[in-house]
Amino acid sequence: MASNAINPSFIDTREAAGSCPACLYRLPRLVECAPSYFNDGHIICKHCGAKTDLWQAALSHAVALSPTGWALASLGAAQTSIVLPMESGKVYEVKLTDHGAPADAKILSTNYTGQTGNLTAIEWHGNSPPRRVVGTVLHLLAVPFGDGPLPHEGRVAITVVWIRGDESPAWPYLVTAFEAAAARDYAPSLVFAQCAIEISMMPLIEDRFRRHASAERVKNFMRGALTYGYALNVVLPYLCAELHVPKMPDVVRGSLNKMRERRNDIIHEGTKAATVTSQDAIEGLCAAAFGFEYMRHIGPSLLSDSVSGLETQ
Ligand SMILES: [Zn+2]
Repeated sequence: MASNAINPSFIDTREAAGSCPACLYRLPRLVECAPSYFNDGHIICKHCGAKTDLWQAALSHAVALSPTGWALASLGAAQTSIVLPMESGKVYEVKLTDHGAPADAKILSTNYTGQTGNLTAIEWHGNSPPRRVVGTVLHLLAVPFGDGPLPHEGRVAITVVWIRGDESPAWPYLVTAFEAAAARDYAPSLVFAQCAIEISMMPLIEDRFRRHASAERVKNFMRGALTYGYALNVVLPYLCAELHVPKMPDVVRGSLNKMRERRNDIIHEGTKAATVTSQDAIEGLCAAAFGFEYMRHIGPSLLSDSVSGLETQ
C-alpha cells in the first residue's frame, strides 16, 4: 500500500526541563540548564527572571504526567506533536527527522488521537508486529469510527516522545531505563538507571585514585571494596570539595540513594516482592537524569590536572 504525502496542519517539538513555577514559561533542555543549577543551586527563568529550582520543576512536571510516556519529556527526552489531515483507509509515513528529531533518536512512546472527522490512526505493520517502534519513521493507517459513508476525513493528533543519542558510554543505559519506564516496566528501569550513574561516576573516581596509587591496586579497590553507596556519598563529595567543584545537590543525591535502596530490593528480593510504583520510577529516573548531567558537568574538572574548579556562569 502506497504511503501518502503528509502535510501537517500543526507541528511542535518540545525539549524542556519542565516549566517555570512562577510564569509557567517553558524552561530550556535539561542538558542546557543543568550546569547553571549545579553551579548556583537554581536557574534564572529567561521569561520572568524568577529563581527556579530546576530539580523541583523537572520532577513535578514528570510526576504530574506519570505514568504516561509524556512524563519523560522533562527528564531529557523530547516530545513532538503533529496534527495530520488523514483519510480513512490510507497509510501515512511520518518521518520524525522531518520534524525536529535527529536520525539517532529512539522513540519511547506514541499517542494517536482523532480530533475531527470520526477517524484515528493505528500503527501499520507486517505480519510480525514489533512491540516497539524501531527507527524514526511511523507508518500509520487511518481507520474510521462509527457509521456513515466511507472514507472519513479529518485530523489526527500524533504525539511522539523520543530521546536523542549521545556519545557517553552511560547513555545507552539511561535510554534503556527510559524505554522500560515508557513500557511501565519500572523495576528494570531503576536497575538500568542506577547502572547509568555507576558507569558515569566510577571512572571519574578511578582516574583520581590512579594518580597516587598503582593501577592494579586501584582496580582491585574499585572492583572489590568501593561500593556504589560509598562512592556516591563519601568519595565523590570529598573529591569535589578538594577540587572546588560544585557538590551534587543533596536532593539529587538523596533521590539517588533512595533509588539504590529500591534497586537493592529488586536485586535481592526479586521484582515481585519489590513493588516499584510509577512515582518511585519517575523520581529515580529524574535523579538518574540529573546525576548523569552532573557527572557530565564535573567530569572535565575531575579528569584535568588543574584544581581551580569550574568557572561559575
Ligand atoms: Zn518564569
